[in-house]
Amino acid sequence: MIALTLRPLPYPTNALEPYLGRETVELHYEKHHAGYLKKLEELIEGTPRQHESLERILQSADGTVFDQAAQVWNHDFYWRSMHPQGGGAPRLGLAAAIDASFGSFDALRSVFLKAGGALFGSGWLWLVAERGELAVVTTADADLPLRHGSVPLLTADLWEHAYYLEYRNERAAYLEAFFDRLANWDFAAANWSEAASSSALRRAGGRR
Ligand code: FE
Repeated sequence: MIALTLRPLPYPTNALEPYLGRETVELHYEKHHAGYLKKLEELIEGTPRQHESLERILQSADGTVFDQAAQVWNHDFYWRSMHPQGGGAPRLGLAAAIDASFGSFDALRSVFLKAGGALFGSGWLWLVAERGELAVVTTADADLPLRHGSVPLLTADLWEHAYYLEYRNERAAYLEAFFDRLANWDFAAANWSEAASSSALRRAGGRR
């Protein structure tokens, strides 16, 4: 469960250089991410939601409260979707699942980059688990896969604030760096095995 707090970044703000610089990460984390949390706290203060978990708010809120809450969740997940020694190829179970769902890791890369380039405006690019398979989806603005019944495994922020200082309008170049140099496949693999075991449990009538 992600509490209504700004979790520390999992690495120093310069750790993703040269692909994402210190200034980008600091602005993104300290101004954008922290700003969404601050607005959310202001919106729910004194309301019945002030003691709810972030997940509960995401499941039941609409409008501005949902947007701010979703952006808090999305950014927390985004930071963990990257790693200073990211990129490379996924291992073991996730690698097999990628082959089964996309044909190959290269095919996933093409689908991922194409989908990210095709989203008009701001949003998020996701690798998700859906009905036991992997899929690449985009969501607009603050929207997220949890609202659509799929389980997020990895995400790239497609808002310009995520990449503008390094890449200007070249979203494709940012996404290539994300996929090839920053993607945290161990994080995605852990999310995939959790999703796979919970859907196996559900099929068996068990409970998590
Ligand atoms: Fe962002």
